[in-house]
Amino acid sequence: MIKIDSKLPLVGDTIFSEMSQLARATEAINLGQGFPDFQPDSDLLEAVCNAIRHGPNQYAPMEGIQTLREVIHNKVLAHQQCEYDTNTEITVTSGATEAVTATILALVRPGDEVIVIDPAYDMYAPVVQLAGGIVRRAAMLPPSEEHLGFTLDWNAVATELNPSTRLLILNFPHNPGGGVLTTEDLDALEDLAQKYPFLLLSDEAYEHIVFDNRPYLSPVNRPSLAARCVLISSFAKTLHATGWKVGYCCAPVEISREIRKVHQFAVYSVNTAVQAGIAAYLQDSSVIAQLSAFYQRKRDRLIAGLQGSKLRPLLCEGTFFLLVDTIAVGNISEKALAIRLTKEAGVASIPVSAFYQNPNASQANHHLLRLCFAKQDSTLDFAIERLARI
Ligand code: GLN
Repeated sequence: MIKIDSKLPLVGDTIFSEMSQLARATEAINLGQGFPDFQPDSDLLEAVCNAIRHGPNQYAPMEGIQTLREVIHNKVLAHQQCEYDTNTEITVTSGATEAVTATILALVRPGDEVIVIDPAYDMYAPVVQLAGGIVRRAAMLPPSEEHLGFTLDWNAVATELNPSTRLLILNFPHNPGGGVLTTEDLDALEDLAQKYPFLLLSDEAYEHIVFDNRPYLSPVNRPSLAARCVLISSFAKTLHATGWKVGYCCAPVEISREIRKVHQFAVYSVNTAVQAGIAAYLQDSSVIAQLSAFYQRKRDRLIAGLQGSKLRPLLCEGTFFLLVDTIAVGNISEKALAIRLTKEAGVASIPVSAFYQNPNASQANHHLLRLCFAKQDSTLDFAIERLARI
């Protein structure tokens, strides 16, 4: 037998795969992994089918098809007042995941330090490790009675920053916390950026799902930050099509050039017809404008349904995830509870501890579960009924 000395010895299946598998095996309602249980808009399906039928169906340009890059250009300009060169600074990728991986592999050199917020989406740290980088975790402040949500702690970020910091990875609207960046956050970030020459990776996959009329602020809203930032997003959540894996990254030309070197050898180019279909569909920009209200109704339906149950909803400013406090259910680890609720109550969720560097540490267990509300109202009602019985 050949013995493989693993490059990622501690990595197993993701918590999302694990909980989805358990949900299938137990026939539980899956509010774990984040994906809609409804179809994308029929106009979008039509646009993609049309592109498949009539082309283009051969290789797309490595950087993505022109019309889709134009859509991205106009969208980022309209929402963040930040203008990227369509030809040299916008790249279509195989989902935000590939954009994140290409960015980290292109920018992080062996021994470089990378700051990852704790808790954070699961993919960042392993990819930094693959690039030979060193992960430094900056803890968020957990929810408290004063603030029923996670708070980005700029002092914690400042403590980890030093001249060897190559990259700071942000992900707002935050998965799993549901928080968004404020102007004060951008002020703090600009202050730190004046002190050290780090680059920024801003994963904004949930950019168009922000509630209660809050503005959505990206770091690229500030020119000084845009100059060092890689803005990454995806059409998955915006178009209810997580399986299509079409995302993008925008960055100044010198940075984009390096990212494209990795992208061209990782995937070369992204499937052409889906890009063409999305570009045609998004000529109508009202689609995006309606998304936050659509999800706000679902968020409020779930919150209202949980009133009087043992699950206490926390603040949810954006994304399609709601955190619930489970202390009233009992003092048991988040993962153990998520598994029991899947098997016994018939509803799968994601333990927030899984997003921490060390999921088993007591600092990672705040009695929180993440529920995905990107579901049909009937699915939510079904789940609510089951959760109310706990
Ligand atoms: N982004 C999705 C989530 O947070 C999961 C994607 C995945 O399964 N890798 O639930």
